[in-house]
Amino acid sequence: MINKDRMIKKFMEYVSIDSETHYEKEMMEYLIKELKDLGFNPETDSAGSKCNSNGNNIYFSIPGEGEPVMLSAHMDTVQPGLGIKPIIKGNIITSDGTTILGADDKSGIAIIIEALTMIKENKLRSRPIEVLFTIYEEGGLNGAKNADYSKLTAKNCIVFDTGGSLENVVVSAIAQNKIDVKVHGKAAHAGGKPEDGINALQVASRAISNMKIGRIDEETTANIGVVKGGLATNIVMPEVTLNCEARSLSDEKLEKQTNHMIDCFEEAAKYYGAKVDVDVINSYPSLKTNTDSKFVSEIVETFRSMNIEVCLTSTGGGSDGNIYASHGISPVIVSTGMYKAHTLEEYIDLDIMTSSCEFLLKYLTLK
Ligand SMILES: [Zn+2]
Repeated sequence: MINKDRMIKKFMEYVSIDSETHYEKEMMEYLIKELKDLGFNPETDSAGSKCNSNGNNIYFSIPGEGEPVMLSAHMDTVQPGLGIKPIIKGNIITSDGTTILGADDKSGIAIIIEALTMIKENKLRSRPIEVLFTIYEEGGLNGAKNADYSKLTAKNCIVFDTGGSLENVVVSAIAQNKIDVKVHGKAAHAGGKPEDGINALQVASRAISNMKIGRIDEETTANIGVVKGGLATNIVMPEVTLNCEARSLSDEKLEKQTNHMIDCFEEAAKYYGAKVDVDVINSYPSLKTNTDSKFVSEIVETFRSMNIEVCLTSTGGGSDGNIYASHGISPVIVSTGMYKAHTLEEYIDLDIMTSSCEFLLKYLTLK
């Protein structure tokens, strides 16, 4: 059994420390001191200087027996996250309504620290454990992208950074490309000399009419979300910009769809004698953890021993887990009991949070 009151007290302290993305320093320093007081050996890296944050990632490990496992949560929060005042009401903790709560992802940090404190305090036999607390997860996964992977040896990881009931364990997540397109046509007087112009929107229209968008297959989607262009009705539209995206559970399918969209724009530009600039930004790679692995079956078994029948699911969003997967570390993402993350109504369900921590302690101390 974990010490629920201690975990809640720490959670309340963590959310009271401002750590909006880019400004994780105070939280980082607080955790380093706390980890040292608990007898751990935290280290940091220089990730912050590479992604414009004032904090850095924290690493520490616990020796043990068998296969090492990595645990992860992120230190930063979204806005508005300054001066958070947590309010506990029965089984729920909320903010005072003027800020987010920051359970995303301080609840993950509190869960990991409580489980490891139990192991340390009671000298429990455990697996070798490697912990990574990241900066700048929100809006870029940049802490994970700039982490020092030479400090990590584990091939499997539990990320405590999702919400809802514990039944849903995330084992796959989509990859996303943002595709920004600028079509350069040619301006001309629409009444006097339209034949001198090239209408950029007509170019874009040809491209789009040849393009597969929407649901591409069961794993892949694509969208054109924003279109901007035009100066006046009497000017042939010289330029149009289109902000598009493609997502897939498969990196290969994502690349294929992205190339298809680019090809359509280039073909249309060629047809009309226009020019097109395309900028592709890979927001994050996909994550697909092998569900037949010993790691996943032990996770499922641990939950089963708590009478929780797990459903292995996928998510449409990215997390640090996507980046770990691209470094050969297979993640599962487990709920902390947070709800309505990124809103002023964010709250944490303390029963789920407690069970999540009990799951972790059980998994780590498996014989
Ligand atoms: Zn999060």
